[in-house]
Amino acid sequence: MSSTNSLNKDMERILYRRYVKILYVDFTADTFVNISAEAGESFVFGESGGIKTLSTEFSEFADGPLCADEDRARFKEFTNIKNIKKRLSMNPRKAMCFSYQRKRSEEDAKFGTFAMEIFPDIDENGHNVAYIFVKDMTAEIKSYVSSIEEKELQHAEKQNSNIRKVLIVEDNAISIAIADKIISEKYNTLLASNGEEALHVLESNEDVSLILIDLHMPVMDGFTFLREKKQNPSIASIPVIVTTSDAGAEEEIRCLSLGATDVILKPYNRDIMLSRVESVIRLHESSVALSAVERDDITGLYTRSAFFHYAEKMLSQNKDISYDITITDIAKFRHINQLYGTETGDTVLKIVADVLQKFLKNDKILIGRYGADQFAILGPTELLAEYAKRDNFFAEVDRKLKKSEVDKVVNIVFKRGIYSCVDKSIPVSEICDRAILALRTVEPEYGNSTAVFSESMNDELNHIRMIERSMQTALTKGQFKVYFQPKHNAQTGKLVGAEALIRWIHPEKGLMTPGMFIPIFEKNGFISKLDQFVIRSVCKNIKEWEQNGIKPVPVSINISRRDLLVKEDEGLLSEIIDEVGVEKKLINLEITESVYGAGEDWLIARIGRLRDQGFQIEMDDFGSGYSALNMIKAMPLDTIKLDMGFIKHLDEHVEVVKAMISLAHVLGKKVTAEGVETEEQLTTLRTLGCDTVQGYYYSKPLPLEEFTEYLKNN
Ligand code: C2E
Ligand code: MG
Ligand code: MG
Repeated sequence: MSSTNSLNKDMERILYRRYVKILYVDFTADTFVNISAEAGESFVFGESGGIKTLSTEFSEFADGPLCADEDRARFKEFTNIKNIKKRLSMNPRKAMCFSYQRKRSEEDAKFGTFAMEIFPDIDENGHNVAYIFVKDMTAEIKSYVSSIEEKELQHAEKQNSNIRKVLIVEDNAISIAIADKIISEKYNTLLASNGEEALHVLESNEDVSLILIDLHMPVMDGFTFLREKKQNPSIASIPVIVTTSDAGAEEEIRCLSLGATDVILKPYNRDIMLSRVESVIRLHESSVALSAVERDDITGLYTRSAFFHYAEKMLSQNKDISYDITITDIAKFRHINQLYGTETGDTVLKIVADVLQKFLKNDKILIGRYGADQFAILGPTELLAEYAKRDNFFAEVDRKLKKSEVDKVVNIVFKRGIYSCVDKSIPVSEICDRAILALRTVEPEYGNSTAVFSESMNDELNHIRMIERSMQTALTKGQFKVYFQPKHNAQTGKLVGAEALIRWIHPEKGLMTPGMFIPIFEKNGFISKLDQFVIRSVCKNIKEWEQNGIKPVPVSINISRRDLLVKEDEGLLSEIIDEVGVEKKLINLEITESVYGAGEDWLIARIGRLRDQGFQIEMDDFGSGYSALNMIKAMPLDTIKLDMGFIKHLDEHVEVVKAMISLAHVLGKKVTAEGVETEEQLTTLRTLGCDTVQGYYYSKPLPLEEFTEYLKNN
């Protein structure tokens, strides 16, 4: 043991950090040495002596105040020298370990966990010796326990988030492999190669969230499967998406009438497939959750399925009376939730429901909570018309809101979709669909807006289908063209930039503007592909101008919220631009205000990183939503683009625009006005100090060739 005298410093430090006490015991010579280390000091040889002394020390500790009551007996038992010797004689090289609770000092009220380890050895003289280490395990145990807890929590979370099961039914090996690859990104998949097998799989798996089925398969095809499934109550409610490579309208209708929720066309597009699957599952689950009870918790109104049930009854019992259905929706309810919290959101719902019930108190009228912020009202056409005449419903809602705690939600706007004189031969769900269809056409600019269903609205559904069917081909066949709209310096009139705006030159429909397809692409995810195409072609155009000796101006590209969502795509923009070899200062990014206003900090952080990479960021449509002027100070952006609404009615808004421009300047941001059509508007904006203008006054968006000429001439 003499070598311990010269323990090197590092060794000491390591030992000191790990052990509070080290003893060396020579059983043969009947002696021990205490190598102790006081805080901050080196190891020193402390007391030594006969083992009896050590024995007494152990037993005094066990009886003293430092040892936890419940461990006293066990401690004595373990440290009893006779016992140790006995164990060593049985197994001379086996280490022993024991853990117990003790206090660090008498002042310390808390117990920690300590471990005593005994490592036996035989020294050079053939003596039976042992090292006894005492180690403070408190921190280690704590972190171990919390790591276990964390693991358990993660496990529980996984279980809770319960990765859903999707059954893929398909006979073609390649199709099934592709579908499996896409779906298993987010779901657990089950596979079956025909309808019959699918029924077997469903028998042994209770919790399938969705079935994805091909129509044409051997043994049992998709149609037969749908029919069989409809007959079997235990699986009838599982939603089904039909996959097919050539659904004609008739085939599609047949599937839908057999209970399919949706149809997806092959070849599969990952984004579309995942987003459809997700939305079908979500829709189904929320309707199941709602149908579990008849009355909704928050509003006390009928739940959606209870509403369906009673509506069905009401309509079938009153065949001779004409009925109307109205679905009312609170515009931008999501913002209310995000800005003021869900509690406020709930209160708003409650108030609206209360007022509805009070106003329409009549047992001929049925009211239900149709969706998150949607209320359905079914009643006789005449009766509802009467109510509508003396309707001061909105004033009453306002009054109640003012009286409640939520009067900060000053501006609640309602949208209403009405389906009048409903066709009683169709299911209530479809009756509601028609009201919703009408509702979707409402653009609540100011005030309350209503739309009434007309047969032509069915055309909209058909339009969406047409767009989705042809978008991929359109991209590969070059039907999308980037147009450029010039931006001019408001003060000098100099050309200073351009905005890239997409156009779809459709072989049958002719020129389509973004309003006709961008909202659809934003929903189904195709927008990301389109935007990548826009960036790539704009970069190529800039490169070509440079190569032809035409000095380019910075081009602004519209970035959709969707583009910012995929984490893996973070570097994509930079990559594309570097690949083509265009300077970042020639590409500006327009990001619409609502992306900033949604309160998603990570999205804003992502925009910040794009700005750090060297892109100029323009906040598009400023003033159309909820963002306050003072918040733009902290936001990653260089320019605000005033919403076109302000310019359209510039006379009315001149004071506001003036304030916005000066405040933006104080905050170090530039201001662009778009939609400038007249000389007067330009003059006003110039006087107000606006930096840049864009609009028909200078030029409409131009196709590449025309804009290239424009560039040359300016
Ligand atoms: P935005 O970014 O606010 O674009 C301005 C819109 O105003 C364009 O409509 C433009 O043609 C129109 N405009 C320009 N000057 C005037 C004017 O003097 N008077 C009037 N009344 N309108 C004017 P457009 O091209 O139909 O685009 C509509 C929206 O579609 C754009 O709004 C933008 O949000 C979106 N968009 C267009 N191209 C793309 C794209 O490539 N990607 C993405 N993600 N969105 C795009
Ligand atoms: Mg824009
Ligand atoms: Mg805009």
